Amino acid sequence: MRDPIAARVRAFGTTVFTRFSALAAEHKAVNLGQGFPDFDGPAEVAEAAARALRDGPNQYAPLFGLPVLREAIAEHADRFWQHRISASDVCVTSGCTEALFDALTGLLEPGDECVLFEPFYDSYAAAASLAGATIRGVLLHPPDATHAAFWFDDAALAAAFTAKTKLILVNTPHNPTGKVFTRAELERIAALCQQHDVIAVTDEVYEHLVYDGRAHTRLAALPGMRERTLTLSSAGKTFSFTGWKIGWAIAPPALLKAVSATHQWVTFATSSPLQAAIAHALRLPDSFFTGLTRDYTARRDRMLSALSAAGLRAHAPEGSYFILADIAGRADHHGEPFTNDEEFCTWLTQHVGVAAIPPSSFYLPEHKLHGERFARFAFCKTDAVLDEAARRLEKLAQR
Ligand code: PMP
Ligand code: GLN
Repeated sequence: MRDPIAARVRAFGTTVFTRFSALAAEHKAVNLGQGFPDFDGPAEVAEAAARALRDGPNQYAPLFGLPVLREAIAEHADRFWQHRISASDVCVTSGCTEALFDALTGLLEPGDECVLFEPFYDSYAAAASLAGATIRGVLLHPPDATHAAFWFDDAALAAAFTAKTKLILVNTPHNPTGKVFTRAELERIAALCQQHDVIAVTDEVYEHLVYDGRAHTRLAALPGMRERTLTLSSAGKTFSFTGWKIGWAIAPPALLKAVSATHQWVTFATSSPLQAAIAHALRLPDSFFTGLTRDYTARRDRMLSALSAAGLRAHAPEGSYFILADIAGRADHHGEPFTNDEEFCTWLTQHVGVAAIPPSSFYLPEHKLHGERFARFAFCKTDAVLDEAARRLEKLAQR
């Protein structure tokens, strides 16, 4: 039989998250790979979902989402990020992953260029390539003597903008580096977008996971950006219900059409009872959101201590729930140095019993080398699980 798979998806392998979750299960490893909490979100949000399942809504939601959720998303945007919008600027999707796919499908023509910071969440490149666009990667460099956090070179970013650039995708707080883009950095990105008439698509799924008193800045709320920014986010990380897959896109209607026009053919509508529950979640009092930051700061510090005790140098993330640890020069139990991050993470899962993600999957083929010196650890886990990971990782320090 000839290969039934269309050329446009033939080269896609299985995602690094699926591969490493399977490997973790096979070796009974503590899974600090795929980023999902091992605890559920607030009981009252689960209760709101149960109520909605019992009493409705249980039929198709409108294409743009339940009015109550669109209102709650608009309120939340103003309450936290001074992003003044109305419910008509919101389209609800099945997770941020769908919003990303819809946005890139709805905006990119074959031959257009799309600027991405590397490393990037793996679905960006897949969605851009399905749209036939060319990706221009701009590297985020690790902290060094002059940079306290991951940083990018302004000249490299400016050079990535060409006459063919249609959009730039900005993920802040950033997976996997934990970088939180500063207001000044976002202003420089905004200036380039305006100068080159480029659309910004932001991925803000970790918007509430920002540490040490830093602030999350919403690009769409900067002067001149409202009309040219599609803000994407979801409820999964903020409310610890990643399996519910409630996401959304925010933009003025003319730009939002990129998402809604695609969304109507991809899923048409997103789970009604879960939308109702997330409308409730977005209106939780401030104490929920400050508690979330406090709890995640403690988990981050616990994981940083575990890595340090294991002799792994790590970059303290400013946001998100991931830590990149430096694995350069590490060797296995026979003293054989690892050739790359895939090999290290596979060995760590099989022989140490802790799964981590090899971040080279988050780079363009020509830049994979930059990811090969790191392993990504997710710390969205209960203390007992983080402590068990710490105990297992101690073996690393003993050689
Ligand atoms: N963007 C980033 C940066 C992510 O890390 C993830 C994964 N959780 C997503 C998007 C996907 O979000 P969702 O589960 O809402 O589709
Ligand atoms: N966003 C999660 C991570 O980065 C994984 C989501 C997925 O499995 N697609 O680990």
